[in-house]
Amino acid sequence: IMAEYRQQTPGSARLYERANQVFPSGITHDSRHMKPYPIYVDQAEGAHKRDVDGNDYIDYFGGHGALLLGHSHPEVTEAAQAALARGTQYAASHEPEVIWGEAVLRMLPGAERVRFTASGTEATLLALRLARAFTGRDKIVRFKGHFHGWHDHMTSGYVSHFDGSPTPGVLPEVAEKTVLVDSDDSAGIEAALGRDDIAAVFLEPTGGSFGMIPVAETTLHELRRLTQANGSLLIFDEVISGFRCSPGGAQQAYGIQPDLTTLAKIVAGGLPGGAVAGRKDILDWLDFAASEAAGRQKILHPGTFNGNPVSAAAAITTLRIIETTDACERANRTAETLRRRMNEVLADKGIGWSIYGTFSGFHVFMNPEDRTIDPMTFDPLSVPWKELKTKPADAANALRLALLLEGVDIGGWPGGLTSAAHSEADVEATIQAFS
Ligand code: PMP
Repeated sequence: IMAEYRQQTPGSARLYERANQVFPSGITHDSRHMKPYPIYVDQAEGAHKRDVDGNDYIDYFGGHGALLLGHSHPEVTEAAQAALARGTQYAASHEPEVIWGEAVLRMLPGAERVRFTASGTEATLLALRLARAFTGRDKIVRFKGHFHGWHDHMTSGYVSHFDGSPTPGVLPEVAEKTVLVDSDDSAGIEAALGRDDIAAVFLEPTGGSFGMIPVAETTLHELRRLTQANGSLLIFDEVISGFRCSPGGAQQAYGIQPDLTTLAKIVAGGLPGGAVAGRKDILDWLDFAASEAAGRQKILHPGTFNGNPVSAAAAITTLRIIETTDACERANRTAETLRRRMNEVLADKGIGWSIYGTFSGFHVFMNPEDRTIDPMTFDPLSVPWKELKTKPADAANALRLALLLEGVDIGGWPGGLTSAAHSEADVEATIQAFS
């Protein structure tokens, strides 16, 4: 496979050689790492992207989840281009940010106020600060295997350090502010939320990595009850699921209202940007007048690219399309078809893996314990979550490479995300490639 891949992608190989002299591992985002080197893309449209060697790929990496409408949606592109020509940074308030914020409040059930950030990582950092200020408590509960960005408070327990110990560069006194729980351990969750020093629970409502490590819906309801009883905040990290699972995100799809929601990716129309949305009394900790009236200091939150006008233009258009069309439903339906058809391939070939997931996502269970399973009926909640995350050595990379050779780019976890731009023909071609 490696030899064939090198033959098909000589331009990417040359760029990677240069990149290796510039960047650690030659890359600018950990999850873009792959062996022997990643593809270098120079154009993307709809559900497809093309590399510098002219190879076309059906894309399921989906801009790390930022692109529910696919690449370079004509209306979004036009809106962003028009905004670009009017200036990229006013260091001033502007109407598009107001329209953008109004759309978030209209669409997201739990949003009474919103504050824009420049990324999802910044959104979870701000949500954490708001939760601590609001509750006067210092610890957070997080779910093992859930991702919330890369700042100091969110590093342990995602890909490593499941015992909560600090990852390199993180202070022990920071790491010990996080209480890690297993999503399938309801007694552990209840015990964590029985403590009186918990400011908030952070989780991906769809389960870690957009459902790679699912959370039972009953657990979500239980969390709502436990946090209310405990006086801590329920924070949904909807950086991927927001405006994807449904126009109102996972919270609308599940009918559960969190106290705060962190957003990025789709909320910024696929451009840089993020947000924290939620209860007014909590967001009031950012409000000058409310803080003065309450006789307290407001919390600090500047940020050069908060509410950037180009992101605002792309976001307004994207959110309008999501609000007024069946874009989310289409993406969800396509993923459901893909999962079923890929499992038919696995069953047909007698391979003990399964493709699972919810909404517009799919994940590959690589069955590290060699369980006897039926790919079609496998329930990811029936195995310990660590097994879902364990990929036999190099199998994930090999699958990714093999699919690239067949014109399909999945995410490296391995898995993928569908968009509203994926067509029936794309699904057919993907099944052929997977087969
Ligand atoms: N939370 C979740 C659930 C995410 O998926 C991500 C990004 N993949 C983040 C937070 C961090 O967002 P960003 O990459 O914009 O910092």
